[in-house]
Amino acid sequence: MTDAADLAPIREAVRALCADFPGEYWRRLDRERAYPTEFVAALTKAGFLAALIPEQYGGSRLTMTAAAAIMEEIQASGCNGAPCHAQMYTMGTLLRHGSAAQKERYLPGIALGELRLQAFGVTEPTSGTDTLSLRTIAVRDGDHYVVNGQKIWTSRAEHSDLMLLLARTTPREQAKSRTAGLSVFLVDMRQVKNNGLTIRPIRTMMNHATAEVFFENMRAPVENLIGNEGEGFRYILSGMNAERILIAAECIGDAKWFIDKAASYARDRVVFGRPIGQNQGVQFPIARAYIGMRAAELMVREAAALYEAGKDCGAEANMAKHLAAEASWAAADMCVQTHGGFGFAEEFDIERKFRETRLYTVAPISTNLILSYIAEHVLGLPRSY
Ligand SMILES: Cc1cc2nc3c(=O)[nH]c(=O)nc-3n(C[C@H](O)[C@H](O)[C@H](O)COP(=O)(O)OP(=O)(O)OC[C@H]3O[C@@H](n4cnc5c(N)ncnc54)[C@H](O)[C@@H]3O)c2cc1C
Repeated sequence: MTDAADLAPIREAVRALCADFPGEYWRRLDRERAYPTEFVAALTKAGFLAALIPEQYGGSRLTMTAAAAIMEEIQASGCNGAPCHAQMYTMGTLLRHGSAAQKERYLPGIALGELRLQAFGVTEPTSGTDTLSLRTIAVRDGDHYVVNGQKIWTSRAEHSDLMLLLARTTPREQAKSRTAGLSVFLVDMRQVKNNGLTIRPIRTMMNHATAEVFFENMRAPVENLIGNEGEGFRYILSGMNAERILIAAECIGDAKWFIDKAASYARDRVVFGRPIGQNQGVQFPIARAYIGMRAAELMVREAAALYEAGKDCGAEANMAKHLAAEASWAAADMCVQTHGGFGFAEEFDIERKFRETRLYTVAPISTNLILSYIAEHVLGLPRSY
């Protein structure tokens, strides 16, 4: 299912669901920094978050293009997929690298939404973007690993049953290569919360349910190691393209929302006896934002098509994420400017979406790191870090 006509029913279904969660719903949660439980439950019940899980495990095994359309429509409707988008793609590491027993055990529950796997513990306070310098260690002790360390920005940790955790299992100086010695664990947080695992929420400029996570002699059963010990970095990297494409699609949805709002306001708002949109100084920034969004959208489609054809899409997924995050941020800024003072008023939802979309030039990967990737891997320039 890749063409626009085939996707129309999915897009309409997502739009219809989102119509039950209007601006006032999100504004209230934003004020309270509360989790959109009802919204996430509705998306889960409709099966949208299980889009990429194979049918044999209870998912709907849609294409990446269809999954991207779901995320885009959520954002274009004025809703926010960030509280649950990771439920759609975090399971990819388990699906690709987990054992048959692990998949049988977890994927059906994840597909139903009875098990939430939407916490991803990679970033640490001291290593930041330099993932290979992470310090959280997991030491084998019989049929368990004992984990000590800390993660930061582990989003949705409080609203997830399972966490995909990247930890060092071989000290860096003893590892066979620069990228070896890290391992991935599927941590069942229900078993270890407040018993080796502590979650401390971080309040951010937008309502994002992110947290610091502390591991103090946390015990993780050996059976929850994904794939081979020491090869975890490769497994985590293999999930990055899906994450980049889906978040890029969310940015496209955000950009569409901002552009629609701005164009509609510019048509209706009359100052100096004519619609503000009659002034080129107002219409050109809207047109420019639209052009930027459409160009980014093409790259998202290209990346998704390569992904679902099983081809290497690292460059395209990164470029899609970069272009789409820049396009959504440019559209957000334009939308505030077009609305003048009302761009700052809570009830217009623009300032909320403005804060929400700002994240995506920083996370899940920052602009500079994408530029470094393209410089090194596409243009053959020397590695800069
Ligand atoms: C709200 C939020 C949610 C997040 N959710 C998650 C999550 O669920 N799981 C998770 O693991 N992580 C998560 N992250 C972490 C996110 O992926 C990182 O914040 C991001 O990758 C940037 O890393 P950093 O904050 O450590 O910045 P740093 O690595 O400290 O970098 C700071 C700045 O310096 C730049 N920089 C660093 N090194 C270089 C270089 N060599 N060349 C050029 N520029 C450089 C970066 O681009 C960045 O702009 C989240 C972050 C936020 C803010």
